[in-house]
Amino acid sequence: MNKVKTTSEKSLASNSRIVVLLTQLEKINSESLLVEADTARYVTSKILHLAQSQEKTRKEMTAKGSTGVEVILSTLENTRDLQTTLNILSILIELVSVGGGRRACILVSKGGTQILLQLLLGASKDSPPNEELMVQLHSLLAKIGPKGNHSRDKKFGVKARINGALNISLNLVKQNLQNHRLILPCLQVLRVYSTNSVNAVSLGKNGVVELMFKIIGPFSKKNTGLMKVALDTLAALLKSKTNARRAVDRGYVQVLLTIYVDWHRHDSRHRHMLIRKGILQCIKSVTNIKLGRKAFIDANGMKILYNTSQDCLAVRTLDPLVNTSSLIMRKCFPKNRLPLPTIKSAFHFQLPVIPTSGPVAQLYSLPPEVDDVVDESDDNDDIETETETENENEDDKDQHFKNDDIETDIDKLKPKQELGRPIEELKIYEQFFPELAENFQEYDLVSKEPKPFASATNLGGPIVVPTAGEEHPAEANQSVKGIAVKDHSSLQMEEYNKRPSFLDLPKKDHNKDSLQLQNDQKKLLSSCQCLSQEIVKGLDRITLQNTSKSEQYYSTGCLIKKESKTSLTTPACNKPCQHVSSCGSGLFEGPSVQLGKLCCTGVDPDEEEDSSSHSSGEQVLLEVPDMLPLHNPDLYIEIVKNTKSVPEYSEVAYPDYFGHIPPPFKEPILERPYGVQRTKIAQDIERLIHQNDIVDRVIYDLDNSSCSVPEEGDILKFNSKFESGNLRKVIQIRKNEYDLILNSDINSNHYHQWFYFEVSGMKTGIGYRFNIINCEKSNSQFNYGMQPLMYSVQEALNARPWWGRVGTDICYYKNHFSRSSIAAGGQKGKSYYTITFTVSFPHKDDVCYFAYHYPYTYSTLKMHLQKLESMHNPQQIYFREDVLCETLAGNSCPLVTITAMPESNYYEHVCQFRNRPYVFLSARVHPGETNASWVMKGTLEYLMSSSPAAQSLRESYIFKIVPMLNPDGVINGNHRCSLSGEDLNRQWQNPNLDLHPTIYHAKGLLQYMATIKRLPLVFCDYHGHSRKKNVFMYGCSIKETMWHTDVSAASCDVIEDLGYRALPKILSQTAPAFCMSSCSFVVEKSKESTARVVVWREIGVQRSYTMESTLCGCDQGKYKGLQIGTRELEEMGAKFCVGLLRLKRLTSPLEHNLPSSLLDIENELIESSCKVTSFSPHSSLMGKCPPTFGICRQSSAVSGGCKSDPCPSTQADRLSVFNKC
Ligand SMILES: [Zn+2]
Repeated sequence: MNKVKTTSEKSLASNSRIVVLLTQLEKINSESLLVEADTARYVTSKILHLAQSQEKTRKEMTAKGSTGVEVILSTLENTRDLQTTLNILSILIELVSVGGGRRACILVSKGGTQILLQLLLGASKDSPPNEELMVQLHSLLAKIGPKGNHSRDKKFGVKARINGALNISLNLVKQNLQNHRLILPCLQVLRVYSTNSVNAVSLGKNGVVELMFKIIGPFSKKNTGLMKVALDTLAALLKSKTNARRAVDRGYVQVLLTIYVDWHRHDSRHRHMLIRKGILQCIKSVTNIKLGRKAFIDANGMKILYNTSQDCLAVRTLDPLVNTSSLIMRKCFPKNRLPLPTIKSAFHFQLPVIPTSGPVAQLYSLPPEVDDVVDESDDNDDIETETETENENEDDKDQHFKNDDIETDIDKLKPKQELGRPIEELKIYEQFFPELAENFQEYDLVSKEPKPFASATNLGGPIVVPTAGEEHPAEANQSVKGIAVKDHSSLQMEEYNKRPSFLDLPKKDHNKDSLQLQNDQKKLLSSCQCLSQEIVKGLDRITLQNTSKSEQYYSTGCLIKKESKTSLTTPACNKPCQHVSSCGSGLFEGPSVQLGKLCCTGVDPDEEEDSSSHSSGEQVLLEVPDMLPLHNPDLYIEIVKNTKSVPEYSEVAYPDYFGHIPPPFKEPILERPYGVQRTKIAQDIERLIHQNDIVDRVIYDLDNSSCSVPEEGDILKFNSKFESGNLRKVIQIRKNEYDLILNSDINSNHYHQWFYFEVSGMKTGIGYRFNIINCEKSNSQFNYGMQPLMYSVQEALNARPWWGRVGTDICYYKNHFSRSSIAAGGQKGKSYYTITFTVSFPHKDDVCYFAYHYPYTYSTLKMHLQKLESMHNPQQIYFREDVLCETLAGNSCPLVTITAMPESNYYEHVCQFRNRPYVFLSARVHPGETNASWVMKGTLEYLMSSSPAAQSLRESYIFKIVPMLNPDGVINGNHRCSLSGEDLNRQWQNPNLDLHPTIYHAKGLLQYMATIKRLPLVFCDYHGHSRKKNVFMYGCSIKETMWHTDVSAASCDVIEDLGYRALPKILSQTAPAFCMSSCSFVVEKSKESTARVVVWREIGVQRSYTMESTLCGCDQGKYKGLQIGTRELEEMGAKFCVGLLRLKRLTSPLEHNLPSSLLDIENELIESSCKVTSFSPHSSLMGKCPPTFGICRQSSAVSGGCKSDPCPSTQADRLSVFNKC
């Protein structure tokens, strides 16, 4: 057809034939009975002819403004002539057959449904009803009911029921079972009716289920169209529980399975996939009820669907069958209980006080005889309708916040005026602020170095911060220096070489037990130390002389042999040495500190090939520049001895002992291969189908101390009896497959996510499958490219001491272990989730460790702090490590103070020193978020570094840092809680001195700072995020919270300073992992007792943040597509500091002054520090915008429009203006 012509025809529409005909028809309608039926017949048949032959006509009749449909419908309503009626029905069918749902919608909007249903009702009174009329009517009705996403007539089913039309179609089918031409459209209408649950029940009562089974009968290639519709109808009908029960009672589950197998066998060329899928849909519906699942199992459904889907795997087009089968099998898989005596933690810690309410109180009040592992969860019929598909690549649905979680009560957002504790009580915190009283008269501070302020004058220039990226040009010639902090390498080197020896360390006071322990340790260490230190020395040598090609010897006789070509360093035994020949285990065992079970008998001959496949071997050695300046194995052991764990751990994990350096290669986010989930699920189902293949042997069990590991060569050995370890039980399922159960957080019965355990006794060339079967979160980044971490001791000895991302076939999915409602917040019918991964080990008889994320123990922190202290230049850096308090288990919670020493002990300099604004940082309130500790390490190292920027940062602020708010949780391998079984980051509103001492005192510090008018400029609590990528911040803003609610009037009165956006904005410009668009400044109800919200609202710190780092990786910026590593995390910590320096420049007029006029500066500093304290929401709310925020005040005024301007991007734009000031 010629397009030009069509257009010109359109313009002549008024003269077109159809318009003429319609006008005629209209006339006939108005004259009604006066006209011969022939005329109407003639006109409608002409219209039909045009409608059938020309799209143009159909378009015209349904065009906007056209009354075509109305005229037609009106004729339909009025005519008594059968032929005219049939003509009109045909016309309407023509009209709605094309054009998507739009034309059907027009028909509906003109009242078509009602007219057609009335017509149906009238026609049904004839006996027998006219077949042609019924066929046409049903064909048309089937097209106007709701279908898919098109909202034709949403109320169609209801209208039909009200008009009494349901049974007309049903009876027609019943009475004309052999008349396929008639029953096909009737079934199509029934299919639409059945999607309404009331209709489904009503139809069910009248025998529709039985009727459908008469139609779907045995396999036959005749009438497949009919079969398909009947199956769809049945699947919809069986969603009603009543109908499903009816089907089960009549034995139809068995029938459906038989029919399915029938089709599976006969449909060898897969031409009837839709029919096969239809049958599965019916089974899926009927198994929503418990009776249905039982009938399915009784009818051997598991085996049938398992076998048929195995046959289908090879044909990609049959994927829908495999996926639906998989879904049904998972649903019907008999629910198991976790193989545990109780889900309460395997370790118990008696609390000094039991909380009066909440989960811990419940836990304590539970009678001992109650079986908490499982309850009647399985009785629940309401299986959630799962729509899981294989390619679940859409991002998490829960965005920043859930809407109903947003705080809408303005009074809860407005700052609280009075402080919680009386001033006299807060006085105890004075001791933590000696810097405010120090006059430095004892110090010899006459600086011979360039004046610190000289570097401060350079502030305007670019700040060079080491980046984590390997492509950084500066990196290449800095191979000897540290990675995160490169400027003080010489100091580090020096310090590293004269690192404190084991015996030099001052011993702490011990009670009897620990004295005894110490004696034992001495005995043991005399032997153990020997090897471990030798290994470490060997390792030291490897890292220190990294590229040396000469042979390196352990002094005990173990040598590290270097293959000149491959640059392999392979530990091998030169002469028999006692500790080594026993393969390690005897050597390290005992009541004291132990170090794993390393076998030092050398590397398998065929291993060498394996190892040499690390093509980057040479490069690796070259690029292992980091001396791990903060790491010292001996010191680590010494610290571990003073670390108090509930299980009284006496072993040390190798990775914590050796230390970790980031690997010198990129680790991309894993691409998920097709079909992983269903393969894994099929393997799980095989446990039921091929029960004889299942070993089911417990090989590790905290609940049963007599559980012994069979000394068979084929079985892996597991262990996690070391700091932060949390493996509870391991069951060998098949030869190379293990189910692992994590321990609950102490004094709780859930929170399983973090894991850290040791594996040994492996062989090479085998893919071992690990399943952690008691995970709880409904989704995980493991489904989006994240891999678990592994540390190989052999690799460490080969100069590759790092945690690396490993594992293939990674998948996170709901499993068949039911979760007790006691641990699911009262919700019944919940299941646990499995994280599964498969690993091939690089070395035989290695000792390897697996972790959820890069471990960072409490002892590691203590070691890092000691090293930082011992390495710092006391002339330049003011560093203090205080004990904020003791934890419940008696571990100390460190509080670190860092700032620059005053330039001299002159009054002016001391004043400048004392008046620096504070920055308060904390981390690791959640033990499983180890990434937070790595970010904190980056921050601490940067703050202690000798770079000019770090120096000016120290000169700008006093840093108060609580690097680990939850030491007990970290030590004991908890994921979320402290020993009180509670999430400490939900206790900030009312911390209990006895139960939450670290929070109580951290808050006390802040309250004290508020009373002395020295509120921190910035508060930030470092966290990890398990579901999102990148690094981002949560802050607090009344306005942004209000934008998400309907309460607009109240918030419009609030004048809010936009300063809270500055730091995240700066970070998004400077830190490559940081992502502004993931930030949120909304205050949620569920977060009202978090550090961020309480410090903002109660203490009054405007810039109060949570900084969340991904556990997975980045999807933007320089690290896009890469998994996150400790290098990037530490860089983030350093960049955070740099961001603070920029913030300083924005918030202080200081930079404009030259250091020459120190007195003036000092005055200004005092002023500015006062201003700093006034940047709180208290003052902002009262409309007193700090003078330094001229632009900000302006923007507040602009955004006073509130709802009319809720776009954060415009805010960001404003901020960029703001940044320039
Ligand atoms: Zn957290």
